[in-house]
Amino acid sequence: ATVAGKSLKIGMIPADGIGREVLPGAKAAIQALGSSIPTTEFIDLQAGFECFQKTGTALPDETVEVLKNECDCALFGAVSSPSRKVFGYSSPIVALRKKMDLYANIRPVSSVAPIPNEQPTIDLVVVRENTECLGFSISKKKHRLLGKGAPKARATRLITEYASRRIGEMAFKIALTRPRKHVTIIHKSNVLSVTDGLFRETVRGVPTLPGMNGKYDGVTVAEQLVDSAVYRLFREPHIYDVMVAPNLYGDIISDAAAALVGSLGLVPSVNAGDSFVMGEPVHGSAPDIAGKDIANPLAAIRSAALMLRQLGYRNGAARIESAVDDVIREGRYLTPDLGGKSSTSEVVSQVVKRI
Ligand code: ATP
Ligand code: MG
Repeated sequence: ATVAGKSLKIGMIPADGIGREVLPGAKAAIQALGSSIPTTEFIDLQAGFECFQKTGTALPDETVEVLKNECDCALFGAVSSPSRKVFGYSSPIVALRKKMDLYANIRPVSSVAPIPNEQPTIDLVVVRENTECLGFSISKKKHRLLGKGAPKARATRLITEYASRRIGEMAFKIALTRPRKHVTIIHKSNVLSVTDGLFRETVRGVPTLPGMNGKYDGVTVAEQLVDSAVYRLFREPHIYDVMVAPNLYGDIISDAAAALVGSLGLVPSVNAGDSFVMGEPVHGSAPDIAGKDIANPLAAIRSAALMLRQLGYRNGAARIESAVDDVIREGRYLTPDLGGKSSTSEVVSQVVKRI
């Protein structure tokens, strides 16, 4: 679906745990924008572990069909992962990314003073490839165990020029919208010279692809081995602007970056493809605090802003983002994860007021 003129249809998938508590906040923030974005219509959709327990599927066909045929974008809450393997259950978020071809996971991490334990100013975005790398093995055949009964395990890693090129383009596009316009390619091609070598070369080559016509001339490019990237992320996070990485490194880097800004409850993401975008807070379903109205709604609200930004509604996104920043800076209305005493709903209404 594409965003056509008049109305914006948003699929709402709260799923499990605190996902149900934080997604209404994201909705309220979008609604508070009023007429500065197209008329919005919210469509409630089912998915998640509870959905699996009730219906036998974690991602009903109807949810995917409505997303594909009726929605312009979506917001996802969080999904519970059962601690032991449950027969027939697989994560709906992984399936959604695949079915909607949401090949990029975009996670901006930035700091707003004054949050306890916070490092110096951080303003970076991790652009993680979502569709391949380790764990997306082509063959499911079991290998016969070799070596006199000693267990062995093997994983296959797939990196393609196609996927590397489109994630690279996404990273360059995002860099263009940011003040520093700097891309760092994260890889480990000193060890994985074939797969990471292909990733690195392909991303590097994006600006000189036919048809680019110097579009990315203003973007500077650096590269870094993933291990030293993590080290430098903790020592001097301010050096990074856009970090683009294959799936596995992107996963690790973005959680590490999230740790630098105080709480998981602050970090948003979007899953983006060429024709669909789905906002999703980075945190999980947080069963330890679910049902208490104390979950921090700001990651979900920022995810809504990010979704709007990705769709081209920059002003709407900026209004939500600055309202969130104001609430954090003021420090009067914060949930317990940030050392405050406010409830989820109280924080939401303070954000809405400022929008
Ligand atoms: P899941 O299996 O769904 O990922 P989890 O137990 O890993 O669940 P997370 O949601 O990843 O839980 O959260 C990890 C920790 O961070 C938990 O202690 C949780 O309470 C806290 N946390 C996560 N999100 C929030 C939030 N929005 N507000 C406050 N605390 C949060
Ligand atoms: Mg988790």
